[in-house]
Amino acid sequence: MTKRALHWFRDDLRLADNPALACAAESGALACLYILDEDGDRRQLGGASRWWLSRSLDALSRELSSRGGRLDILRGDPAKLLPAFAESTGVARVTWNRRYDAASIKLDTCLKERLSDAGIEVRSFNGNLLNEPWQVTSRAGRPMMVFTPYWRAARARGEPAAPLAAPSRINAFPLPDSIRDESCRLAELGLEPSKPDWAGGLRESWTPGEDGAREQLGDFLGGGLGGYAEMRDRPGRDSTSRLSPHLRFGEISPGQIWHALGTARESGEAAGSATDAEKFLSELGWREFSYHLLFHNPDIATRNYDERFDSFPWKPDAEALRRWQRGQTGIPLVDAGMRELWQTGWMHNRTRMVTASFLIKHLLQDWREGERWFWDTLVDADPANNAASWQWVAGSGADASPYFRIFNPVTQSETHDPKGSYIRQWVPELAGLSERDIHQPWKASASALHEAGVRIGETYPSPIIDLAFGRQRALDAFAEIRKG
Ligand SMILES: Cc1cc2nc3c(=O)[nH]c(=O)nc-3n(C[C@H](O)[C@H](O)[C@H](O)COP(=O)(O)OP(=O)(O)OC[C@H]3O[C@@H](n4cnc5c(N)ncnc54)[C@H](O)[C@@H]3O)c2cc1C
Repeated sequence: MTKRALHWFRDDLRLADNPALACAAESGALACLYILDEDGDRRQLGGASRWWLSRSLDALSRELSSRGGRLDILRGDPAKLLPAFAESTGVARVTWNRRYDAASIKLDTCLKERLSDAGIEVRSFNGNLLNEPWQVTSRAGRPMMVFTPYWRAARARGEPAAPLAAPSRINAFPLPDSIRDESCRLAELGLEPSKPDWAGGLRESWTPGEDGAREQLGDFLGGGLGGYAEMRDRPGRDSTSRLSPHLRFGEISPGQIWHALGTARESGEAAGSATDAEKFLSELGWREFSYHLLFHNPDIATRNYDERFDSFPWKPDAEALRRWQRGQTGIPLVDAGMRELWQTGWMHNRTRMVTASFLIKHLLQDWREGERWFWDTLVDADPANNAASWQWVAGSGADASPYFRIFNPVTQSETHDPKGSYIRQWVPELAGLSERDIHQPWKASASALHEAGVRIGETYPSPIIDLAFGRQRALDAFAEIRKG
């Protein structure tokens, strides 16, 4: 007999390689639900992520319809809405893929109990990681706090399972009127900005959804993967996969990426060497490691992992923070990164490290301020990767960059953007400067500035801080907490 099942979509907005959806679809008749919860304990999405979510739900809804299915969207508290939906539609099974932040774990535990008490079978799955955060441990069975042994242990667990196919046909059952009346249309959720509509750059830069993710992966495997190990540090080139927002919203799974890479390499369709492939997999490993850290340190976005940083002498400065956010620090590579972020919702990893280091170390602003800004402006803002990376840069995290390693943004710029093309793209007022002057325009000669039409302090800001002074001040601040 056909049974009814319900799949609850969360951070798994795809049909292929979706173990929870596959389990629900087995039952016969299926409802698919997304719940937008804007008041719960989970951290609320930032603006750029809300835009992405809206587009991704739209793509998912169209994909489901093309296979006979339907995406129902509700708004409110899942602890109430999910059981009410399940009970009033008479489903025998509810499925979801796991999330790993503390509020989600608490909610899922509650829901499991509530639904099971009502006689409904609940099945949850790992749909978004190569390994569950608790599956990789030290020999003594403890969480791992250093990346290299973590990744070695994770690799030793073998390949991820082969990806599951998307259900070819979905048999959606009709909803009772009471639920249909509560269902929202996507536009009603107000996820996309209107006044002002700041999302033009995002629309030009991205194709959210499962098809967009697949295409992005194909392009990368056949192109950008070539030379990835060396070129991935060069901002302004298509040298990385740009899969991060697709992974964040579960439009593609790391297992799919892993196997697509293996298949492309076997068939000779992948660009690049074994070293490029291995380096790329290890970046997926950093994502796994961040989730491992989040699971074992639920307040990773707010609490210093290294408690010595609790007494760090931050110098809160609203004006400095604002100039950093707007890309107006007068340090070209920092400004280029911050403007790329503002205009496209994404920033290259190298510039994420440089801009974060500059805020924390040269400007002595608390890393949590930067984390919050990235959370609001990144389309890939991720509860594990963002917080773990900010703590890594600050030096307060697990396996962190040592505090005294302070990126010099000029040297970084000369090394990773030697021709200044990334700066020219995002800081066009400096475009006329030579390759030598563009990294530190305040040192250019008066005639070079004049020829390039640059007036420091007028057409482009003076540096917000003297870099050598900022570096020494940061080292002194660190020495203080080390003493303490
Ligand atoms: C301060 C700071 C904040 C960051 N915030 C986020 C964030 O909110 N969301 C996010 O996904 N990444 C974050 N990162 C990590 C990294 O910058 C991005 O994952 C990467 O730039 C995404 O581009 P890509 O997909 O082209 O990466 P690729 O180089 O193609 O890597 C493939 C995938 O591996 C993962 N990955 C790569 N580098 C890292 C890393 N260092 N840590 C964890 N996972 C990684 C991502 O899922 C990425 O999509 C942050 C890094 C820093 C320094």
